[in-house]
Amino acid sequence: MTTARIQPKAGHATHVDVVIVGAGISGVGSAYHLQQQCPNKSYVILEMKDTFGGTWDTHKYPGVRSDSDLYTFGYRFKPWVGAPVASAEAILKYMGEVIEENGVGRHIRYGHRITRCSWSSKTNLWTVEAKRRSDDATVTFTCNFLWMCQGYYDHERPYTPDWPGMNKYKGKFIHAQLWDPNVDYAGKRVLVIGSGATAATVIPAFAEKAAHVTMLQRSPTYFFCSENRNELADRLRQIGIDEPTIHRVVRAQIMHDQNLMTRRCLAEPDAVFEELKALIRHYAGQDFQFEPHFIPKYRVWQQRLAFCPEGDVFKAAAAGKLSVVTDTLETFTEKGVRTASGEEIEADIIVAATGFRLSVMGDIPFSVDGKAVDWHDTINYRGMMFTGVPNLLWVFGYFRASWTLRVDILGDFVCRLLNHMDEIGAKRVEVALRDEDKDMPILPWIESDNFNPGYLMRGLDQLPRRGDKPEWRHNQDYWAERIEIPATDLDGAEFLYDGKRRTSSARTIDVEVA
Ligand SMILES: Cc1cc2nc3c(=O)[nH]c(=O)nc-3n(C[C@H](O)[C@H](O)[C@H](O)COP(=O)(O)OP(=O)(O)OC[C@H]3O[C@@H](n4cnc5c(N)ncnc54)[C@H](O)[C@@H]3O)c2cc1C
Repeated sequence: MTTARIQPKAGHATHVDVVIVGAGISGVGSAYHLQQQCPNKSYVILEMKDTFGGTWDTHKYPGVRSDSDLYTFGYRFKPWVGAPVASAEAILKYMGEVIEENGVGRHIRYGHRITRCSWSSKTNLWTVEAKRRSDDATVTFTCNFLWMCQGYYDHERPYTPDWPGMNKYKGKFIHAQLWDPNVDYAGKRVLVIGSGATAATVIPAFAEKAAHVTMLQRSPTYFFCSENRNELADRLRQIGIDEPTIHRVVRAQIMHDQNLMTRRCLAEPDAVFEELKALIRHYAGQDFQFEPHFIPKYRVWQQRLAFCPEGDVFKAAAAGKLSVVTDTLETFTEKGVRTASGEEIEADIIVAATGFRLSVMGDIPFSVDGKAVDWHDTINYRGMMFTGVPNLLWVFGYFRASWTLRVDILGDFVCRLLNHMDEIGAKRVEVALRDEDKDMPILPWIESDNFNPGYLMRGLDQLPRRGDKPEWRHNQDYWAERIEIPATDLDGAEFLYDGKRRTSSARTIDVEVA
């Protein structure tokens, strides 16, 4: 591996084998895998922020934490030793240790916002331009392979609906993603608009100090209440088992249980909902009323379950610190908001927990041989590579399982692919439809029956398309992919190396993408 620090000069292109985009949990994990499995490859991570962490640095609202347990949201190679659900601070500390312990830091270029990526088939290289914050210079890298770990949402501009009358409101309005930790909410009436994972996190934290918290939701969410501890991990620690073994065993236990839960959500959603309700009653009391605020309209597997450690949201509701209103926001007023049914909700602070603005590939303009890439015109191979776009892989994790499980799987895949290319002397790899894909329907990327969060559904026209065969879907199924992706035949007919198939009989198919 190249260890010298690669320092680009404005006006000169610096060459590395691999550019990783983003120093979030995906970028850092990918760098680790590259170092381990392709030790001779040089690489940089280009990160527009001044620090690592991505999501865990961006979000600063009270109580910010994971939804997933860190045994599976953490990497497979670095044991997690804290409580399963962790604060942003604890996740950043963990990532900082990974960077430090593995010498990843010297490869990260902070304050580098990528502004353009262009592929040339003449040189078989990507040219990556970045704006360097320290001196506003445009610096250029060239690389053989581009590993896109830029996440899926705009870190600077969240999604705020254009509600009528917002300019009339005299109190403080803020989107949770842009929360300023200096805002003092002690003794204030706080209105949270939204009911997803962010609302579930922020509400109990506000409820501790605010005069009152109201949650205004258009429709209810499923909540999963549980203690924030893992009995098996605690027991294994008590009897002196080492942390790497605990990490491996507890990950296996959690993944097994989640698999069972996902299958049960699909097979018996009503029974699962009854169990979720029983957990809520355990914290909020047996006479807790679910109608009308806690009976969701979607099916239990279609969106991530909002986690409630120790039933905190429901304890706040049972203690009278939280009111819930299920209605449509009609307009902002001077003192708060009015809903469609005419209810006035007054608040000193209004917090929009309305989610993300989708950002496909970091909103970076891409071109291949001078032609702009429209991702919607591409067909996506297993949620990671795109027809017509060579030497590039996109990390898009799981939603029902921990995102990071896919970072590890794709890390292995990219390294296997890069090593395979070296073995066969190929400079360029891309995916293409096969003969057998000729009549395959070309569909929207999101399978809305399977998973349908608002920010993805709003952005379908920016996302790639997919087919209906396993190779051309991101099936969100960790338990299938952990077997299928490592078993992928890299000489299969869906891969072209230097423009040719390695299997003799296969042909490329041109598919009209309307
Ligand atoms: C509050 C919150 C809680 C969550 N909890 C969980 C959870 O418990 N479990 C789970 O599985 N998922 C969770 N998620 C989803 C979460 O976003 C992912 O799991 C994961 O953190 C994404 O990591 P990432 O590295 O892929 O992307 P990000 O965290 O988005 O990081 C991407 C990085 O790329 C950088 N970047 C983007 N564009 C450019 C550019 N043009 N140039 C240079 N750099 C660029 C960004 O600055 C950023 O640092 C949560 C999300 C949020 C917002």
